[in-house]
Amino acid sequence: MKVLVVLLTGHTILNRHLSIVGICTDPLCPACGEEQETTFHFLGRCLARMQDINTTLGGYILDLEELREVKPKPLIRFTTKVQLHQSQLTLTIS
Ligand SMILES: [Zn+2]
Repeated sequence: MKVLVVLLTGHTILNRHLSIVGICTDPLCPACGEEQETTFHFLGRCLARMQDINTTLGGYILDLEELREVKPKPLIRFTTKVQLHQSQLTLTIS
């Protein structure tokens, strides 16, 4: 559940948030380098992760409406698959 809360609030280990709080200087996605690594990019837009997005969330590229329909279990499977572990997420909200 913690994974879902931090992803939905944007207070994650994703580079966009880390650059805002001064933990890193590069807000770009480390997987593709094309866009800032926001939750929206991470879950629905990353070209480097599109195969994992498709197999776990049900589409290669997802818009906000489609992401709103995704159930918690597929989100957890996706974050596990791309190795965004809960222990890492805990560090950013403690
Ligand atoms: Zn990306």
